Amino acid sequence: MESGLISVDRWADGSQAYFLTHLHSDHTKGLSSSWAKGPLFCSRLTAKLFPFKFPHFNLSLIRILQIGSWHTLSLLSSSGSRSRVQVMAIDAHHCPGSVMLVFRGEFGCLLYTGDFRWEANCERAARARDMLLGAIKDEVVDIIYLDNTYCNPSYDFPSRQVAAQQVVNIILSHPEHDIVIGINTLGKEDLLLHISRELKIKICVWPERLQTMHLLGFNDIFTTNTSITRVRAVPQYSFSIDTLEALNTMHPTIGIMPSGLPWVKKGLQKSENLYSSFLTSRSKRGRWSANGEVRSDQPVTNIGLIERFHEYMYSVPYSDHSNYAEIKEFVKLVRPTKLKGIVSSSTCYIEPMYYLGPFCGVNRPAQKLHSKHESKGSVERAEAVSTKSSFHNDNFEESENKRIKTSKVKSSGFRLSKFSGLRRMSRGAKIYETNSPVKAEKA
Ligand SMILES: [Zn+2]
Repeated sequence: MESGLISVDRWADGSQAYFLTHLHSDHTKGLSSSWAKGPLFCSRLTAKLFPFKFPHFNLSLIRILQIGSWHTLSLLSSSGSRSRVQVMAIDAHHCPGSVMLVFRGEFGCLLYTGDFRWEANCERAARARDMLLGAIKDEVVDIIYLDNTYCNPSYDFPSRQVAAQQVVNIILSHPEHDIVIGINTLGKEDLLLHISRELKIKICVWPERLQTMHLLGFNDIFTTNTSITRVRAVPQYSFSIDTLEALNTMHPTIGIMPSGLPWVKKGLQKSENLYSSFLTSRSKRGRWSANGEVRSDQPVTNIGLIERFHEYMYSVPYSDHSNYAEIKEFVKLVRPTKLKGIVSSSTCYIEPMYYLGPFCGVNRPAQKLHSKHESKGSVERAEAVSTKSSFHNDNFEESENKRIKTSKVKSSGFRLSKFSGLRRMSRGAKIYETNSPVKAEKA
């Protein structure tokens, strides 16, 4: 068996160093409190949140990656010699602690995005972009392992800033209602902060989420006391039409589901969880403008829209994943030799190279053609490196991961012919070393 080098968001045996991009469950499948396979590298904030998710984890195994700094690892090659691998973590702006990772070594230069959202006009994303460009300025990036969740031109939902204001406007338009918002165990904090700031109210969350909020430093904004606020965040998996209907027998209540997914409407089964119940084309619905106001006079055909798909329920296109335009800009920025999607069953899944291949490899800036780390041509070397990613479905864990899949689309709109949880696969890549030149295990 060849000796393994590094694994990212993948927790099988055989690697010498393991990297975690962020703490969402689809990236930690296989990781447990009894982990003992090797050192685990992550961001400082992920390390801080780590014991909360894995209470008895041996924390001496955690290695913190300083964002924006190169870290050097000396790993053992199959020939017994030492192999130097460098890695830099860069803010992925997806959820607290999330990073993308740039690796360079004898195998070339690889970029693993994890889940990320870099909006066009976001200062934080701009800083991360500069950091990435600095990291790869002398490199040819051989492969991007890409967050392809929304890698389809259909996905042109707005920035989180705009979507957050849409949520505020919905709440303002329901002054007598209680508001229930479905969120994950991590992520979408900025949405809740925006609501709190705009409406000058506290947000009620469930007890474990309150602990997370305190760990993140939000001490005065969140509460578990439902009597002092009409806005409540609940776990997405507990969100259902049944629940909303029950709540409405006591007090007028609306639900808001923030997600970049398109929702294709189908007959609603009352008992179904919302995340496995709908998609909608939103094709004839009002679109929200940049200031969050609805423009119902403009039928549109894309899917970046707000949707009231039930008497008590809105979906708002607030997403912690990049939309298609942002993904495209990202790939154009990096100009990798090759792309690999890290999500195997996202909605409207198409191999990322199908759309973004024209931005790979060719026409890259001349100064990037020669890497100081290269001993061979980049294309040659890229062919010598591949990864093994394991994609398979698993059962429902967190609703952020509970996406909806349409396997059949009709021209009259989206028709849901088959449901299954999306992003229910484990992620990750494992890079193996064999002989010289360093190779990767074939998938
Ligand atoms: Zn995630």
